[in-house]
Amino acid sequence: MSGSHLDVLISELQIRVRTAELAKQIDDEFGGEPVLLIAVLKGSIHFLSDLGRLMKSDTQLDFLQVSSYHGGKSSTGVVQIRKDLDINIEGLNVLIVEDIVDTGVTLSHLRELLSTRKPKSLKVVALLSKSGSRTVHPPVEYIGFEIPNEFVVGYGLDYAERYRNLPYIAILREE
Ligand code: 5GP
Repeated sequence: MSGSHLDVLISELQIRVRTAELAKQIDDEFGGEPVLLIAVLKGSIHFLSDLGRLMKSDTQLDFLQVSSYHGGKSSTGVVQIRKDLDINIEGLNVLIVEDIVDTGVTLSHLRELLSTRKPKSLKVVALLSKSGSRTVHPPVEYIGFEIPNEFVVGYGLDYAERYRNLPYIAILREE
């Protein structure tokens, strides 16, 4: 995108340190029980990959894709399931791995949907949270960083499919 620039908000090192802390906290709280990590595509892939490798619990992976933004910078409020899980989650400890919780609409739908499938437990880890922007308040058990209400990209997060490969989180500003 021309006429825009990136301001680093969270560095690669900060992400690494915080992800290791979260991995340890999650491992401790699951106390050796197996956990199914569900990544919400595509934004959480780098976070899932790093978090998953730092966890010592016995983990399985699955993927879910929803869409609520349709390539723009503000939410439409419509949540569609684009790709459903492969694994039957009944009786499993499930940890939803989210890139960012903004209004909370997407996560609230996801929690509702997955809880109808009777997992043993259902928790959420989100790398980023814009708590000031919530319109609904689904529980988020683990949060990496609280951030201001700005549009961010990097470390999996995109703007029109760009910037996902940045190793840090940056605010995308238009000039
Ligand atoms: P919510 O339903 O909580 O408003 O939004 C959740 C989804 O909106 C996230 O999973 C993400 O895809 C997208 N989103 C929310 N805020 C941002 C942002 O600052 N940057 C990017 N790239 N996506 C965002």
